[in-house]
Amino acid sequence: MNFIADTHTHTVASTHAYSTVLENARVAADRGFHYLAITDHVPNDEDAPHIWHFHNMERSIDRILLGVKMLFGAEASITGADGSLNINLSELAALDWVIASVHFPVEGNPKDYTEIYEAVANNPWVDVIGHSAHPYYTYDYDKILPVFRDKNKLVEINETQISHKRRAQNYLELAKKCLQYEVPVIVNSDAHFCNRIGEFNGTVKILTEINFPEELIVNSSDDNFLRYLKVRGKEYL
Ligand SMILES: [Zn+2]
Ligand SMILES: [Zn+2]
Repeated sequence: MNFIADTHTHTVASTHAYSTVLENARVAADRGFHYLAITDHVPNDEDAPHIWHFHNMERSIDRILLGVKMLFGAEASITGADGSLNINLSELAALDWVIASVHFPVEGNPKDYTEIYEAVANNPWVDVIGHSAHPYYTYDYDKILPVFRDKNKLVEINETQISHKRRAQNYLELAKKCLQYEVPVIVNSDAHFCNRIGEFNGTVKILTEINFPEELIVNSSDDNFLRYLKVRGKEYL
């Protein structure tokens, strides 16, 4: 299984991450990746950079760094019972790449996240549904995965969750359902240190086990990735 992009990575801008943009790009380049997204947490999260971090990325950082095309993005938290994120839509609109993730219970601490994820699917600025196979923030896969597919949201298979938190079983279930409904997925490291970038061993094991087709893995080839960027109106990248 081959990969050309890692689209969920953190930098020292979030101080619980430990590498710089350049260090991350170097590892991505060394591993033969063509795209790398920088997706630090947003200002309303704990331990996140100031909003200026996001405003300044495009004008400060080389678009192509060590031969790797950079995507300037963010990982926002889903915090509202209405599926809203903890950052203004106008800020999201200015970013290349947006991941929406549940990091802690949304307001009201609901038992089920089906309606919340349905609302996130309708957020036009969200590209990726981050680490959604969480055992506490569950949703109806049969109902929502086809909606993610139809709204061009990528379901993330998150290597950090699989390997560090021993949630392989949860991601196996999610991947099986994505296969059933032909939902495109993206394999991401969620690296908080450069050496984790592009390390997808746990994910590869799961996807291989169920014969998950490479056509549905958006970051498995330049063609697949470019096709998705086009669908999302991001041909400029
Ligand atoms: Zn983090
Ligand atoms: Zn996250």
